[in-house]
This record gives sequence, C-alpha cells and structure tokens, in this order.
Amino acid sequence: MVDCETWGTNNEAVIISIGAVLFDPYAQHTVGESFHVAIDPSSCTFYGLKPDMTTIMWWMGEERDEARKTHMEQEQIDLASALDGFISWFGEDKPVWGYGAVFDNVILRSAFRLVGLKCPWSFRNDRCFRTFTYLAPLVPRPTNGGVVHHALDDAKSQAYWLQAIRLALGCSV
Ligand SMILES: [Mg+2]
Repeated sequence: MVDCETWGTNNEAVIISIGAVLFDPYAQHTVGESFHVAIDPSSCTFYGLKPDMTTIMWWMGEERDEARKTHMEQEQIDLASALDGFISWFGEDKPVWGYGAVFDNVILRSAFRLVGLKCPWSFRNDRCFRTFTYLAPLVPRPTNGGVVHHALDDAKSQAYWLQAIRLALGCSV
C-alpha cells in the first residue's frame, strides 16, 4: 500500500512525502516492513512536477495542523534520492495499491519518469484501493492510529482497511 502526500491532484503533482507498507491481504490488522520519506518540494519542481495552489491552500487548513507540523519536523530529501530509496526498499515487482485510480500510483509513475528512473512495478500490478472500498461500503475505515495525512500512517490504516474488506467479502485479491 502506498500513500503520497502532495501539493496537487494532477498526474504530475509535487510529492512532499511517500509512505508505504508491505502487507498480506489475507492477514488481519497486520502490516510488515515500511518506508517513509519527506521530500523537498523544490527538488520536485526542478524535475518538472507541478504544484497546485488549491492543494497548498488546503494544507493550510486547521484540520491539517498536526500533519503539517509533523511534516515540517522531518528532514526533506531530494526527489531522486527519495525514489532511489523507494526502489531499493520495494524490491521485486508486486501489486501496488493506492487510494485512487489516478492518484498515488500515477503520480509516482510520473515522478519516476521525470527523474529518469524505472518504476519498480509493472502496469499489471497497479491496484486501485478506492474502487475496492466501494465494493464494501459497510466496512468502516479503521481509526488512523497515527496522524491523518501522514503518508505512512495513512498507508498503514489503508492496509488494515483493505484486510477488513477482503475478509468481509471473502474474496481473493
Ligand atoms: Mg495521505
């Protein structure tokens, strides 16, 4: 499960953090190894990612105070180093779930392309978690045990939610 915090909702949005967790969809409320990095937004625009003022203003909202504060306390690294680190952490090709058919996965793909790195997963392994949640509207999103809009805390809570939905549906993923 991946979650990107961004400064935009377009396909080439500036990425300010990436969170990801490995998880077994057949487990319950359990995740494995995690990845998290905060990114210097000026390195994103250097490579051609695009900031969007509407989203930047949205970040200014009171509801995002904690997420913003947590984010600002972290070391922000260059986009290329962040993506390099992601590739090393990610390893072999495997399914990648993001919350939106044209959000996290697509934005990350754009970033890999603009930096000149190969996206580490195949197009066959793109999974839309938002669509999956619509198949089970009665399964509630688990309470985020961390900070809402912190990329890693969001990725974890989404992985737990996916596990709960898969169990409720009794389906294979
Ligand atoms: Mg998020």
